[in-house]
Amino acid sequence: EQKKETLGFQTEVKQMLHLMVHSLYSNREIFLRELISNASDAIDKLKFEAIKKPELLSQDPHPSIRIGVDETAQTITISDDGIGMTREEVISHLGTIAKSGTKEFFANLSGDQKKDAQLIGQFGVGFYSSFIVADKVTVVTRKAGDPADSATLWESNGEGEFTVENTKRDHFGTDVILHIKSEDRDLVSKFRLRNILTKYSDHISTPILMGKDEYKDDKVVDTGEWEAINQGAALWARPKSEITEDQYKEFYHHVSHDPSDPLTWTHNKVEGKNEYIQLLYVPSAAPFDLWDREHVNGVKLYVKRVFIMDDASQLMPKYLRFIRGVIDSEDLPLNVSREILQQSRDLKTIRDGSTKRVLSMLEDLAASRAADYDKFWALFGNVLKEGMGEDPANRERIQKLLRFVSTATEGKQTATLEGYLARMKTGQNSIYYVTGDTPEAAAKSPLLELFKKKDVEVLLMGGPIDEWLMQFMTEFEGKSFVNISKGDLDLGDLSDKNEKEEKEKLQVEFKPLIDKFKEALGSSVQDVRMTLRLTDSPACIVNDENALNPAFVRMMKMAGQ
Ligand code: ADP
Ligand code: MG
Repeated sequence: EQKKETLGFQTEVKQMLHLMVHSLYSNREIFLRELISNASDAIDKLKFEAIKKPELLSQDPHPSIRIGVDETAQTITISDDGIGMTREEVISHLGTIAKSGTKEFFANLSGDQKKDAQLIGQFGVGFYSSFIVADKVTVVTRKAGDPADSATLWESNGEGEFTVENTKRDHFGTDVILHIKSEDRDLVSKFRLRNILTKYSDHISTPILMGKDEYKDDKVVDTGEWEAINQGAALWARPKSEITEDQYKEFYHHVSHDPSDPLTWTHNKVEGKNEYIQLLYVPSAAPFDLWDREHVNGVKLYVKRVFIMDDASQLMPKYLRFIRGVIDSEDLPLNVSREILQQSRDLKTIRDGSTKRVLSMLEDLAASRAADYDKFWALFGNVLKEGMGEDPANRERIQKLLRFVSTATEGKQTATLEGYLARMKTGQNSIYYVTGDTPEAAAKSPLLELFKKKDVEVLLMGGPIDEWLMQFMTEFEGKSFVNISKGDLDLGDLSDKNEKEEKEKLQVEFKPLIDKFKEALGSSVQDVRMTLRLTDSPACIVNDENALNPAFVRMMKMAGQ
């Protein structure tokens, strides 16, 4: 028997609580969504544990979430038959912020209540939103498998300290009891809560129950029975025809913690040797950790409707790490571990199939909703480019999804390679490009003068990612890529017949001048040549055919090579 303890919140939690209470009030309803999401996570975890220990489900074979309203006590109680917490877990989960990224959270705060409220889910601090509407929160929790008298009672008024003490709870699971502030008493109403909940609870795969009311002689009477207010079946497992657009969107908010609507999604049941369901979304906003290649947790893995893991990085290639959603396999063993996953052939099939699905979804988006594709490209284009290196098998499809600034797009990233081919001049055999620190800088290159004169389109590449990308862009539909800043550019059939003669003539005529240049520049250049490439500028510097690109060299230096 442990004594009652009073403990202080971690500093970050105090900051968070202050923020919740003072700046997120206009979004006070988010507390319900967050607490239900915790309850449903807890039930998912219990079901997962029960794969190894079926006895954990013997008390409550069909775990549920229950919402209770007590108008006399002015409390709202959210109860679940989930995994529960030990005393130590309560102290660390409800007193500190375990997730990394708290710094980013505070750095990302904009002061705009709506936007800031959206960050809460993403940063895993949902529980603390209880204090937006409650001046006291009591949690009673019993860890699944622990004896009834070793439950824990946690309590706090959200002002810096909390207490924990020993208590009893009949079943495994957790109650979160919110003592509602006087100014929020309107929430202590079944009718209100039911309204808030039905808006977004249908995608939750656990039944959510509320006390059933009846009308008797024009009065509302509690029947003492529970009634489910959601379907309680996994959304992705239902037939497509029975799912509305809004339900798809709500489910996206739930899995992604992103309150904005997705750009597009794909939902399929794949049958055959490997059976699985995929429901995959393209977000319309970039997550804060998009550039953290190690942080891949967008797609959740389920096996036969049982949640298995969050960050199954093997489910998606890294260059599609912005994709969110669910993959549910019929064939993987329920007790699959990360180690097994690593070598699983089934998983490889699922990953290949899902990668192809995502690429088709993006192709459809590009073909049918160009403006939305541009939005996608602006957010995730640079991540998708990584696929050119990472996924050789799909290189051609990825190439078609790329967008470039070119001398024909007026600064916009809208040129496709297929479009470029269609605009090629007769006699043109290559796809020309020039690189700079940015596409705008590349556009200023004097090397473009000749191409302007001949009205030949040139792709304007910018920055280290593009330098890297060009290594994998050797050809597209039989046309090779040519960097116009390299060596003795061969324009092939595009050059005028007499250019060669003229160049040789000039070479002789200006030999004395060239020799003077060579003498003056000495070893800082490899060669000095006459050129016909320029029309307005007197001179330009080019690279040797085989030389590394200057921006690439800079990037290698930055990387410490
Ligand atoms: P997140 O859910 O993103 O981890 P929260 O602040 O919502 O962040 O919850 C913090 C942690 O507290 C959870 O990760 C979980 O370990 C624990 N927790 C919260 N609610 C429950 C619950 N109903 N049952 C079991 N554990 C819970
Ligand atoms: Mg949560």
